[in-house]
Amino acid sequence: MIEIPQEFDTLSYRDVLAQFDAAAEWLCLDANIWKRLRLPQRALCVTMPIRMDNGDVHLFQGFRVQHDSALGPTKGGVRYHPDVNLGEVAALAMNMTWKCSLAGLPYGGAKGGIRCNPKDMSQRELQRLTRRYTAEIFPLIGPDQDIPAPDVGTNEHVMAWMMDTYSHQRGYAVPGVVTGKPICIGGSLGREEATGRGVVYVAVEGMKHLKIKCAGATAVVQGFGNVGSIASRFLTEAGIRVIAVSDSGCGIYNSSGLNITDVIAYKKARHTLEGYPYGEMITNEELLGTECTIVIPAALSGQIREDNAHRLRCRMVVEGANNPTTKEGDGILKDRGIFVIPDILANSGGVIVSYFEWVQDLQKYFWKEKEINEKLQDIIITAFNRVLRYSLSENIDMRMASMAISLRRLADAHLARGLYP
Ligand code: NAD
Repeated sequence: MIEIPQEFDTLSYRDVLAQFDAAAEWLCLDANIWKRLRLPQRALCVTMPIRMDNGDVHLFQGFRVQHDSALGPTKGGVRYHPDVNLGEVAALAMNMTWKCSLAGLPYGGAKGGIRCNPKDMSQRELQRLTRRYTAEIFPLIGPDQDIPAPDVGTNEHVMAWMMDTYSHQRGYAVPGVVTGKPICIGGSLGREEATGRGVVYVAVEGMKHLKIKCAGATAVVQGFGNVGSIASRFLTEAGIRVIAVSDSGCGIYNSSGLNITDVIAYKKARHTLEGYPYGEMITNEELLGTECTIVIPAALSGQIREDNAHRLRCRMVVEGANNPTTKEGDGILKDRGIFVIPDILANSGGVIVSYFEWVQDLQKYFWKEKEINEKLQDIIITAFNRVLRYSLSENIDMRMASMAISLRRLADAHLARGLYP
């Protein structure tokens, strides 16, 4: 095997690679495809001087990584966070390849990111940075090439600036270049809620498998952004009590169940959960150790690790975030018999509805929200049941079963297309 270049060699890359290597070995994957998929197809690093509001010029670093395009154009979010680095972006791009293949979408995986702290920047600075980043990665993106979407620290406004910048360079409106846009410029109904909605669809299926009823079940959710807050809302609607949630600052706990609509309104008004009056303040570590039915990590990578996985007191982990569990953490959850619904299955609702958005943009014909939610439910629950059946028949865990199904489809595509030249 080719050694992993130093630039990619981070903890998250090694974790994703370890999962891939284990699945490739189990599947007896073609050795040439195995070698190829351990590294991304393309990676672009960009440096962007941006004029800040105080007149200073600040230099930012950005990345766009395309992991594999055998199944179609590549697809993946753009992250704005101070810890963004090439290795993490490459790991997330690889994860997107497995996710798109598992859901049966005609996409390969990609990811992008800028090392910055969006919380410390004004909207004007963010807009300048986004436009410059889009111009820098312009040769790589496009509706038939690579389609960005929101991720941690980005949202529909960022997607609107990306779409506008790309469209100006082309000379006409190209809504299909990004997904997760505002509805008024070609966004899809249901996209904003899609990831959280999908997380809850699979969580409920997992509970059916474990023969746990929603009434009486409890959940804790780490991360209260797009995925975490919306998943919390749908959990409550499904009759599951959400007893603790957290953001990067702190967590809140209420054994009778939090009023999620109220918590969302509180966070929106104050940009923090601190001081929320109807819950006890807890730390993120305490949140993960809270006794409950379901733990949903919906923040960053590497949150469930060797040093804390033994503290979880739940029946099920549903991975809303990407790569939230390290290899060692995963081993501990497995030994303890905790049922894990892996990220590439659990949080695929976002990319599934992004696919619907892209199809609607290309067709210039927009669907009703009911139709979108029904199609999402159908795809994600079918994928869940396929993975569950395979995991039971082969006596492997859900992560290995998801990877195996995904890799088989990908390998077929690579073998059918052959080598160029
Ligand atoms: P977001 O920026 O909207 O929210 C992230 C949340 O995590 C924030 O509430 C933040 O305060 C919190 N957070 C950050 N560090 C934390 C920490 N150490 N402990 C607890 N909370 C912390 O991002 P998002 O879009 O909700 O994405 C969350 C995760 O879900 C990421 O891993 C992302 O890659 C993944 N994901 C997102 C989508 C999507 O459609 N947005 C789709 C698939 C996967």
